[in-house]
Amino acid sequence: MKDYNLYKEKLAEIADVSHTLSLLNWDQEVYMPKKGFQRRSQQISTLSGYLHQLSTSSKLEQLVTDLLLKNNLSFEEKRNLEISKKEIDRNKKYSKEFVQQLSQTVSKSFNAWQNAKAAKQFSLFAPHLKELIELKKKECDLLGYEKHPYNAMLDLYEPNCTVNFLDELFLGVKKNLTEITQRIFNAPQNIDNFMRLNYKHKDQWKFSLNLLQHIGYDFDAGRQDLSTHPFTTNFSSNDVRVTTRVNENDLAEIIWSTIHEGGHALYEQGLKDCNYGLPAGTYCSLGIHESQSRLWENNVGRSLDFWKYNYPQLQNIFPQQLKKISVEEFYKAMNIVTPSLVRTNADELTYHFHVMIRYEIEKELFSNNVNINELPEIWNSKYVEYLNINVPSDDVGILQDIHWSHGSFGYFPTYSLGSFYAAQFFNQATKDLPNLETAIANGNTSNLLKWLQSKIHKHGKLFDASTLCKKVTGEELKIKYFSDYVKTKYTKLYRL
Ligand code: ZN
Repeated sequence: MKDYNLYKEKLAEIADVSHTLSLLNWDQEVYMPKKGFQRRSQQISTLSGYLHQLSTSSKLEQLVTDLLLKNNLSFEEKRNLEISKKEIDRNKKYSKEFVQQLSQTVSKSFNAWQNAKAAKQFSLFAPHLKELIELKKKECDLLGYEKHPYNAMLDLYEPNCTVNFLDELFLGVKKNLTEITQRIFNAPQNIDNFMRLNYKHKDQWKFSLNLLQHIGYDFDAGRQDLSTHPFTTNFSSNDVRVTTRVNENDLAEIIWSTIHEGGHALYEQGLKDCNYGLPAGTYCSLGIHESQSRLWENNVGRSLDFWKYNYPQLQNIFPQQLKKISVEEFYKAMNIVTPSLVRTNADELTYHFHVMIRYEIEKELFSNNVNINELPEIWNSKYVEYLNINVPSDDVGILQDIHWSHGSFGYFPTYSLGSFYAAQFFNQATKDLPNLETAIANGNTSNLLKWLQSKIHKHGKLFDASTLCKKVTGEELKIKYFSDYVKTKYTKLYRL
Protein backbone atom coordinates (compact mmCIF):
# COMPACT_ATOMS: atom_id res chain seq x y z
CA MET A 1 0.00 0.00 0.00
CA LYS A 2 1.73 3.05 -1.32
CA ASP A 3 -0.38 5.55 0.63
CA TYR A 4 0.07 3.78 3.93
CA ASN A 5 3.84 3.94 3.45
CA LEU A 6 3.55 7.62 2.73
CA TYR A 7 1.58 8.02 5.97
CA LYS A 8 4.35 6.17 7.85
CA GLU A 9 6.97 8.45 6.30
CA LYS A 10 5.03 11.54 7.34
CA LEU A 11 4.69 10.31 10.90
CA ALA A 12 8.38 9.46 11.05
CA GLU A 13 9.14 13.00 9.93
CA ILE A 14 6.94 14.40 12.72
CA ALA A 15 8.71 12.11 15.20
CA ASP A 16 12.09 13.36 13.96
CA VAL A 17 11.16 16.93 14.83
CA SER A 18 9.52 15.99 18.09
CA HIS A 19 12.51 13.92 19.27
CA THR A 20 14.90 16.67 18.23
CA LEU A 21 12.89 18.95 20.52
CA SER A 22 13.23 16.37 23.29
CA LEU A 23 16.97 16.31 22.74
CA LEU A 24 17.13 20.10 23.09
CA ASN A 25 15.08 19.89 26.27
CA TRP A 26 17.20 17.07 27.67
CA ASP A 27 20.35 19.06 27.00
CA GLN A 28 18.81 22.14 28.61
CA GLU A 29 18.13 20.20 31.81
CA VAL A 30 21.41 18.31 31.89
CA TYR A 31 24.33 20.09 30.21
CA MET A 32 23.43 23.47 28.71
CA PRO A 33 25.46 26.39 30.11
CA LYS A 34 23.44 29.18 31.74
CA LYS A 35 24.01 31.70 28.98
CA GLY A 36 22.56 29.35 26.38
CA PHE A 37 19.07 29.85 27.77
CA GLN A 38 17.75 32.63 25.55
CA ARG A 39 18.69 31.21 22.17
CA ARG A 40 17.69 27.76 23.27
CA SER A 41 14.19 29.01 24.09
CA GLN A 42 14.07 30.51 20.62
CA GLN A 43 15.23 27.26 19.00
CA ILE A 44 12.64 25.30 20.93
CA SER A 45 9.88 27.72 20.01
CA THR A 46 10.81 27.64 16.29
CA LEU A 47 10.86 23.86 16.19
CA SER A 48 7.59 23.67 18.18
CA GLY A 49 5.90 25.86 15.59
CA TYR A 50 7.25 23.64 12.82
CA LEU A 51 6.03 20.57 14.66
CA HIS A 52 2.52 21.99 15.00
CA GLN A 53 2.52 22.80 11.29
CA LEU A 54 3.60 19.28 10.32
CA SER A 55 1.14 17.56 12.60
CA THR A 56 -1.86 19.59 11.44
CA SER A 57 -1.04 19.72 7.74
CA SER A 58 -4.06 19.33 5.50
CA LYS A 59 -2.11 16.88 3.32
CA LEU A 60 -1.65 14.54 6.25
CA GLU A 61 -5.27 14.93 7.26
CA GLN A 62 -6.46 14.08 3.75
CA LEU A 63 -4.13 11.10 3.58
CA VAL A 64 -5.38 9.71 6.88
CA THR A 65 -9.04 10.31 6.00
CA ASP A 66 -8.65 8.59 2.61
CA LEU A 67 -6.78 5.65 4.07
CA LEU A 68 -9.43 5.13 6.71
CA LEU A 69 -12.01 4.59 3.96
CA LYS A 70 -10.14 1.55 2.61
CA ASN A 71 -11.52 -1.79 3.65
CA ASN A 72 -8.39 -3.93 3.43
CA LEU A 73 -6.69 -2.44 6.48
CA SER A 74 -5.15 -4.70 9.10
CA PHE A 75 -6.10 -4.22 12.76
CA GLU A 76 -2.81 -2.47 13.42
CA GLU A 77 -3.05 -0.16 10.40
CA LYS A 78 -6.60 0.80 11.27
CA ARG A 79 -5.75 1.51 14.89
CA ASN A 80 -2.75 3.67 13.92
CA LEU A 81 -4.87 5.68 11.51
CA GLU A 82 -7.73 6.13 13.97
CA ILE A 83 -5.43 7.50 16.63
CA SER A 84 -3.74 9.79 14.13
CA LYS A 85 -7.14 11.05 13.05
CA LYS A 86 -8.11 11.75 16.67
CA GLU A 87 -4.84 13.64 17.24
CA ILE A 88 -5.17 15.70 14.07
CA ASP A 89 -8.77 16.57 14.91
CA ARG A 90 -7.72 17.60 18.39
CA ASN A 91 -4.77 19.70 17.24
CA LYS A 92 -7.01 21.50 14.77
CA LYS A 93 -9.28 22.68 17.56
CA TYR A 94 -6.52 24.96 18.81
CA SER A 95 -6.23 28.24 16.97
CA LYS A 96 -2.78 29.73 16.53
CA GLU A 97 -3.83 32.65 18.78
CA PHE A 98 -4.97 30.34 21.53
CA VAL A 99 -1.72 28.34 21.46
CA GLN A 100 0.31 31.53 21.64
CA GLN A 101 -1.77 32.97 24.46
CA LEU A 102 -1.50 29.73 26.41
CA SER A 103 2.25 29.44 25.93
CA GLN A 104 2.79 33.06 27.01
CA THR A 105 0.60 32.62 30.06
CA VAL A 106 2.37 29.39 31.01
CA SER A 107 5.74 31.02 30.65
CA LYS A 108 4.67 33.95 32.88
CA SER A 109 3.04 31.75 35.47
CA PHE A 110 6.01 29.40 35.62
CA ASN A 111 8.21 32.37 36.37
CA ALA A 112 5.74 33.68 38.98
CA TRP A 113 5.51 30.24 40.57
CA GLN A 114 9.31 30.08 40.97
CA ASN A 115 9.36 33.49 42.62
CA ALA A 116 6.35 32.72 44.79
CA LYS A 117 7.89 29.45 45.92
CA ALA A 118 11.17 31.12 46.81
CA ALA A 119 9.24 33.80 48.74
CA LYS A 120 6.90 31.16 50.26
CA GLN A 121 3.98 33.34 49.23
CA PHE A 122 1.04 31.99 47.26
CA SER A 123 -0.40 35.46 46.64
CA LEU A 124 2.45 36.15 44.16
CA PHE A 125 1.32 33.20 42.06
CA ALA A 126 -2.45 33.58 42.53
CA PRO A 127 -3.29 36.09 39.73
CA HIS A 128 -1.29 34.04 37.19
CA LEU A 129 -2.91 30.82 38.28
CA LYS A 130 -6.31 32.46 37.94
CA GLU A 131 -5.55 33.54 34.39
CA LEU A 132 -4.19 30.14 33.52
CA ILE A 133 -7.25 28.33 34.85
CA GLU A 134 -9.54 30.62 32.86
CA LEU A 135 -7.59 29.68 29.73
CA LYS A 136 -7.64 26.00 30.55
CA LYS A 137 -11.41 26.21 31.00
CA LYS A 138 -11.59 27.69 27.53
CA GLU A 139 -9.48 24.78 26.37
CA CYS A 140 -12.03 22.35 27.87
CA ASP A 141 -14.73 24.07 25.82
CA LEU A 142 -12.57 23.93 22.69
CA LEU A 143 -11.87 20.24 23.15
CA GLY A 144 -15.40 19.33 24.17
CA TYR A 145 -16.41 17.01 26.99
CA GLU A 146 -19.24 15.02 28.47
CA LYS A 147 -20.62 15.76 31.94
CA HIS A 148 -17.63 17.40 33.66
CA PRO A 149 -15.26 19.96 32.05
CA TYR A 150 -12.35 18.38 33.94
CA ASN A 151 -12.91 15.23 31.87
CA ALA A 152 -11.40 17.11 28.93
CA MET A 153 -8.21 17.66 30.93
CA LEU A 154 -8.03 14.06 32.16
CA ASP A 155 -8.42 12.76 28.62
CA LEU A 156 -5.25 14.59 27.55
CA TYR A 157 -3.11 12.36 29.77
CA GLU A 158 -5.23 9.27 30.26
CA PRO A 159 -7.57 8.74 27.31
CA ASN A 160 -11.14 7.90 28.40
CA CYS A 161 -10.44 8.59 32.07
CA THR A 162 -13.34 10.43 33.75
CA VAL A 163 -14.33 12.07 37.02
CA ASN A 164 -16.93 9.33 37.58
CA PHE A 165 -14.34 6.61 37.21
CA LEU A 166 -11.79 8.31 39.46
CA ASP A 167 -14.33 9.26 42.14
CA GLU A 168 -15.28 5.65 42.55
CA LEU A 169 -11.71 4.40 42.43
CA PHE A 170 -10.41 6.90 44.98
CA LEU A 171 -13.34 6.30 47.31
CA GLY A 172 -12.29 2.66 47.69
CA VAL A 173 -8.59 3.46 47.98
CA LYS A 174 -9.19 6.18 50.54
CA LYS A 175 -11.15 3.84 52.77
CA ASN A 176 -8.56 1.04 52.61
CA LEU A 177 -5.54 3.29 52.97
CA THR A 178 -7.00 5.26 55.85
CA GLU A 179 -7.66 2.05 57.71
CA ILE A 180 -4.21 0.56 57.25
CA THR A 181 -2.22 3.76 57.76
CA GLN A 182 -4.06 4.39 61.05
CA ARG A 183 -3.01 0.96 62.24
CA ILE A 184 0.55 1.57 61.09
CA PHE A 185 0.77 4.93 62.87
CA ASN A 186 -0.39 3.28 66.09
CA ALA A 187 2.12 0.42 65.81
CA PRO A 188 5.77 0.46 66.99
CA GLN A 189 7.76 2.37 64.37
CA ASN A 190 10.64 1.07 62.24
CA ILE A 191 13.81 3.12 61.90
CA ASP A 192 15.77 4.44 58.93
CA ASN A 193 18.23 6.91 60.47
CA PHE A 194 21.20 5.00 58.97
CA MET A 195 19.95 6.02 55.52
CA ARG A 196 20.90 9.60 56.33
CA LEU A 197 24.58 9.08 57.18
CA ASN A 198 27.17 10.40 54.76
CA TYR A 199 27.24 8.40 51.52
CA LYS A 200 29.87 9.51 48.98
CA HIS A 201 28.56 10.84 45.68
CA LYS A 202 30.79 8.70 43.46
CA ASP A 203 29.90 5.49 45.29
CA GLN A 204 26.19 6.23 45.10
CA TRP A 205 26.58 6.87 41.39
CA LYS A 206 28.34 3.54 40.91
CA PHE A 207 25.59 1.70 42.77
CA SER A 208 22.86 3.39 40.75
CA LEU A 209 24.48 2.22 37.51
CA ASN A 210 24.55 -1.31 38.94
CA LEU A 211 20.85 -1.03 39.73
CA LEU A 212 19.99 0.01 36.17
CA GLN A 213 22.08 -2.80 34.76
CA HIS A 214 20.45 -5.23 37.16
CA ILE A 215 16.88 -4.47 36.07
CA GLY A 216 17.88 -4.87 32.41
CA TYR A 217 18.37 -1.30 31.22
CA ASP A 218 20.33 -1.40 27.96
CA PHE A 219 23.30 0.98 28.20
CA ASP A 220 23.91 0.62 24.46
CA ALA A 221 20.49 2.22 24.02
CA GLY A 222 20.72 4.90 26.68
CA ARG A 223 22.72 6.63 29.38
CA GLN A 224 22.26 8.07 32.85
CA ASP A 225 23.10 11.66 33.83
CA LEU A 226 22.43 13.95 36.76
CA SER A 227 19.65 16.54 36.97
CA THR A 228 17.81 18.41 39.72
CA HIS A 229 14.52 16.71 38.90
CA PRO A 230 15.01 13.15 37.66
CA PHE A 231 13.29 12.32 34.38
CA THR A 232 13.31 9.94 31.40
CA THR A 233 13.32 11.03 27.79
CA ASN A 234 13.72 9.19 24.52
CA PHE A 235 14.74 9.98 20.97
CA SER A 236 13.87 6.48 19.72
CA SER A 237 13.59 3.13 21.46
CA ASN A 238 17.33 2.78 20.88
CA ASP A 239 18.20 5.99 22.70
CA VAL A 240 16.37 6.32 25.99
CA ARG A 241 18.01 8.57 28.59
CA VAL A 242 17.45 8.71 32.32
CA THR A 243 18.60 11.19 34.92
CA THR A 244 18.92 10.77 38.64
CA ARG A 245 19.96 12.85 41.64
CA VAL A 246 22.42 12.32 44.46
CA ASN A 247 21.99 13.52 48.03
CA GLU A 248 25.10 12.62 50.04
CA ASN A 249 23.04 12.69 53.22
CA ASP A 250 20.12 10.59 52.06
CA LEU A 251 20.80 7.31 50.29
CA ALA A 252 17.12 6.74 49.50
CA GLU A 253 16.87 9.53 46.93
CA ILE A 254 19.14 8.00 44.32
CA ILE A 255 17.78 4.49 44.83
CA TRP A 256 14.17 5.48 44.18
CA SER A 257 14.81 7.93 41.41
CA THR A 258 17.09 5.46 39.60
CA ILE A 259 14.72 2.50 39.80
CA HIS A 260 11.67 4.66 39.01
CA GLU A 261 13.18 6.31 35.94
CA GLY A 262 14.73 2.97 35.00
CA GLY A 263 11.23 1.46 34.90
CA HIS A 264 10.03 4.24 32.60
CA ALA A 265 13.09 3.68 30.41
CA LEU A 266 12.57 -0.09 30.13
CA TYR A 267 9.10 0.64 28.73
CA GLU A 268 10.50 3.04 26.10
CA GLN A 269 13.31 0.62 25.20
CA GLY A 270 10.69 -2.10 24.80
CA LEU A 271 8.68 -0.26 22.13
CA LYS A 272 9.22 -1.60 18.62
CA ASP A 273 11.68 0.42 16.57
CA CYS A 274 9.89 -0.58 13.36
CA ASN A 275 6.90 1.41 14.65
CA TYR A 276 8.92 4.60 15.05
CA GLY A 277 6.61 7.62 14.99
CA LEU A 278 3.44 5.54 14.75
CA PRO A 279 0.91 5.29 17.59
CA ALA A 280 1.85 1.59 17.85
CA GLY A 281 5.41 2.73 18.59
CA THR A 282 4.34 5.18 21.30
CA TYR A 283 3.44 4.55 24.96
CA CYS A 284 -0.17 3.64 25.73
CA SER A 285 -1.07 6.31 28.30
CA LEU A 286 0.61 8.14 31.17
CA GLY A 287 -1.05 5.82 33.69
CA ILE A 288 0.41 2.79 31.93
CA HIS A 289 3.79 4.52 31.66
CA GLU A 290 3.71 5.18 35.37
CA SER A 291 2.69 1.57 36.02
CA GLN A 292 6.00 0.50 34.54
CA SER A 293 8.08 2.81 36.73
CA ARG A 294 6.09 1.90 39.85
CA LEU A 295 6.14 -1.81 39.23
CA TRP A 296 9.94 -1.72 39.30
CA GLU A 297 10.11 0.86 42.06
CA ASN A 298 7.51 -0.57 44.44
CA ASN A 299 6.53 -4.13 43.61
CA VAL A 300 10.10 -5.15 42.79
CA GLY A 301 12.40 -2.49 44.29
CA ARG A 302 10.68 -2.23 47.67
CA SER A 303 10.49 -6.00 48.15
CA LEU A 304 12.62 -8.08 50.48
CA ASP A 305 13.46 -10.46 47.62
CA PHE A 306 15.01 -7.70 45.56
CA TRP A 307 17.28 -6.66 48.41
CA LYS A 308 18.27 -10.20 49.32
CA TYR A 309 20.30 -10.06 46.14
CA ASN A 310 21.22 -6.37 45.94
CA TYR A 311 21.82 -5.47 49.55
CA PRO A 312 25.14 -7.37 49.97
CA GLN A 313 26.50 -5.33 47.05
CA LEU A 314 25.31 -2.12 48.62
CA GLN A 315 26.93 -3.19 51.90
CA ASN A 316 30.19 -3.81 50.03
CA ILE A 317 30.16 -0.31 48.65
CA PHE A 318 29.28 1.25 52.02
CA PRO A 319 30.71 -1.12 54.63
CA GLN A 320 31.10 1.53 57.31
CA GLN A 321 27.55 2.78 57.19
CA LEU A 322 25.75 -0.53 56.64
CA LYS A 323 27.83 -3.38 58.07
CA LYS A 324 25.69 -3.66 61.21
CA ILE A 325 22.37 -3.33 59.39
CA SER A 326 20.71 -6.57 58.31
CA VAL A 327 18.83 -6.91 55.05
CA GLU A 328 15.55 -7.14 57.00
CA GLU A 329 16.31 -3.89 58.78
CA PHE A 330 17.18 -2.30 55.46
CA TYR A 331 13.95 -3.58 53.95
CA LYS A 332 11.95 -2.08 56.84
CA ALA A 333 13.73 1.24 56.41
CA MET A 334 12.88 1.24 52.69
CA ASN A 335 9.22 0.93 53.56
CA ILE A 336 8.63 3.36 56.38
CA VAL A 337 5.16 4.86 56.28
CA THR A 338 4.81 8.32 57.71
CA PRO A 339 2.72 11.42 56.96
CA SER A 340 4.72 13.99 55.03
CA LEU A 341 4.18 17.43 53.54
CA VAL A 342 5.80 16.87 50.17
CA ARG A 343 4.35 14.43 47.64
CA THR A 344 7.66 13.45 46.04
CA ASN A 345 9.05 12.36 49.42
CA ALA A 346 6.01 10.29 50.36
CA ASP A 347 5.97 6.53 50.95
CA GLU A 348 3.96 4.28 48.63
CA LEU A 349 0.82 4.45 50.82
CA THR A 350 0.40 8.05 51.93
CA TYR A 351 1.48 9.08 48.42
CA HIS A 352 -2.06 8.55 47.21
CA PHE A 353 -3.48 10.97 49.78
CA HIS A 354 -1.31 13.65 48.19
CA VAL A 355 -2.74 12.78 44.79
CA MET A 356 -6.35 12.72 46.04
CA ILE A 357 -5.95 16.18 47.56
CA ARG A 358 -4.77 17.59 44.24
CA TYR A 359 -7.46 15.73 42.34
CA GLU A 360 -10.24 17.07 44.56
CA ILE A 361 -8.97 20.63 44.27
CA GLU A 362 -8.54 20.46 40.49
CA LYS A 363 -11.99 19.01 40.04
CA GLU A 364 -13.47 21.90 42.04
CA LEU A 365 -11.41 24.45 40.14
CA PHE A 366 -12.91 23.25 36.89
CA SER A 367 -16.47 23.32 38.11
CA ASN A 368 -16.27 27.01 39.06
CA ASN A 369 -16.60 26.56 42.77
CA VAL A 370 -13.35 27.95 44.10
CA ASN A 371 -12.05 31.41 44.87
CA ILE A 372 -8.35 31.24 43.96
CA ASN A 373 -7.30 33.25 47.02
CA GLU A 374 -8.81 30.64 49.29
CA LEU A 375 -6.73 27.82 47.77
CA PRO A 376 -3.99 27.70 50.44
CA GLU A 377 -6.64 27.43 53.13
CA ILE A 378 -8.37 24.60 51.28
CA TRP A 379 -5.04 22.88 50.65
CA ASN A 380 -3.95 23.14 54.27
CA SER A 381 -7.21 21.90 55.67
CA LYS A 382 -7.11 18.88 53.36
CA TYR A 383 -3.61 18.04 54.66
CA VAL A 384 -5.03 18.04 58.18
CA GLU A 385 -7.98 15.93 57.08
CA TYR A 386 -6.00 13.33 55.11
CA LEU A 387 -2.62 13.27 56.83
CA ASN A 388 -3.19 15.04 60.13
CA ILE A 389 -0.32 17.35 59.34
CA ASN A 390 -0.05 21.15 59.53
CA VAL A 391 1.40 22.97 56.54
CA PRO A 392 3.87 25.55 57.88
CA SER A 393 4.36 27.53 54.65
CA ASP A 394 3.21 27.62 51.02
CA ASP A 395 6.52 26.40 49.53
CA VAL A 396 6.01 22.99 51.13
CA GLY A 397 2.23 23.31 50.67
CA ILE A 398 0.32 24.53 47.69
CA LEU A 399 3.41 25.76 45.83
CA GLN A 400 5.38 22.50 45.98
CA ASP A 401 4.52 21.06 42.55
CA ILE A 402 5.51 22.44 39.18
CA HIS A 403 2.39 21.03 37.42
CA TRP A 404 -0.08 23.88 37.87
CA SER A 405 2.41 26.50 36.76
CA HIS A 406 2.73 24.53 33.51
CA GLY A 407 -1.03 24.29 33.15
CA SER A 408 -0.84 20.50 33.61
CA PHE A 409 -4.24 19.97 35.22
CA GLY A 410 -5.47 16.39 35.14
CA TYR A 411 -1.97 14.93 35.33
CA PHE A 412 -1.76 13.93 39.02
CA PRO A 413 -4.29 11.07 38.93
CA THR A 414 -2.07 9.20 36.45
CA TYR A 415 0.49 8.73 39.26
CA SER A 416 -2.02 6.81 41.36
CA LEU A 417 -3.39 4.93 38.37
CA GLY A 418 0.20 3.82 37.76
CA SER A 419 0.47 2.20 41.19
CA PHE A 420 -2.92 0.51 40.84
CA TYR A 421 -2.12 -0.90 37.40
CA ALA A 422 1.32 -1.94 38.64
CA ALA A 423 -0.16 -4.01 41.46
CA GLN A 424 -2.57 -5.75 39.09
CA PHE A 425 0.14 -6.43 36.48
CA PHE A 426 2.60 -7.71 39.06
CA ASN A 427 -0.01 -10.01 40.53
CA GLN A 428 -0.57 -11.47 37.06
CA ALA A 429 3.18 -11.79 36.49
CA THR A 430 3.53 -13.91 39.65
CA LYS A 431 0.81 -16.21 38.25
CA ASP A 432 2.33 -16.43 34.78
CA LEU A 433 5.89 -16.83 36.10
CA PRO A 434 5.49 -19.21 39.07
CA ASN A 435 9.01 -18.80 40.47
CA LEU A 436 9.20 -15.07 39.99
CA GLU A 437 9.87 -14.14 43.63
CA THR A 438 12.65 -16.72 43.98
CA ALA A 439 14.15 -15.56 40.71
CA ILE A 440 14.19 -11.95 41.95
CA ALA A 441 15.82 -13.06 45.21
CA ASN A 442 18.48 -14.81 43.11
CA GLY A 443 19.13 -11.67 41.13
CA ASN A 444 17.26 -12.71 38.02
CA THR A 445 14.78 -10.12 36.78
CA SER A 446 15.09 -10.92 33.10
CA ASN A 447 11.99 -13.14 32.91
CA LEU A 448 9.90 -10.39 34.41
CA LEU A 449 11.26 -7.90 31.90
CA LYS A 450 10.57 -10.27 29.01
CA TRP A 451 7.03 -10.73 30.32
CA LEU A 452 6.47 -6.97 30.48
CA GLN A 453 7.93 -6.51 27.02
CA SER A 454 5.70 -9.09 25.43
CA LYS A 455 2.53 -8.29 27.38
CA ILE A 456 2.76 -4.50 27.55
CA HIS A 457 5.73 -2.71 26.00
CA LYS A 458 5.64 -3.99 22.43
CA HIS A 459 1.97 -3.02 21.95
CA GLY A 460 2.49 0.72 22.34
CA LYS A 461 -0.89 2.36 21.72
CA LEU A 462 -2.40 -0.61 19.89
CA PHE A 463 -4.84 -1.01 22.78
CA ASP A 464 -6.20 1.63 25.12
CA ALA A 465 -5.30 1.30 28.80
CA SER A 466 -8.38 -0.54 29.91
CA THR A 467 -8.30 -3.01 26.97
CA LEU A 468 -4.60 -3.61 27.61
CA CYS A 469 -5.26 -4.29 31.28
CA LYS A 470 -7.98 -6.75 30.33
CA LYS A 471 -5.72 -8.51 27.84
CA VAL A 472 -2.89 -8.81 30.35
CA THR A 473 -4.86 -9.69 33.49
CA GLY A 474 -8.28 -10.82 32.26
CA GLU A 475 -9.98 -7.92 34.06
CA GLU A 476 -10.30 -4.17 33.88
CA LEU A 477 -8.48 -2.14 36.50
CA LYS A 478 -9.60 -3.30 39.96
CA ILE A 479 -8.48 -1.63 43.15
CA LYS A 480 -8.52 -5.01 44.88
CA TYR A 481 -5.03 -5.89 43.67
CA PHE A 482 -3.43 -2.78 45.07
CA SER A 483 -5.34 -3.14 48.35
CA ASP A 484 -4.34 -6.80 48.72
CA TYR A 485 -0.72 -6.00 47.96
CA VAL A 486 -0.71 -3.24 50.58
CA LYS A 487 -2.45 -5.34 53.21
CA THR A 488 -0.22 -8.40 52.83
CA LYS A 489 3.00 -6.44 52.76
CA TYR A 490 2.37 -3.92 55.52
CA THR A 491 0.64 -6.27 57.96
CA LYS A 492 3.90 -8.20 58.06
CA LEU A 493 6.20 -5.19 57.99
CA TYR A 494 4.53 -3.51 60.97
CA ARG A 495 3.41 -6.74 62.66
CA LEU A 496 -0.20 -5.49 62.62
ZN1 ZN B 1 7.10 8.49 36.86
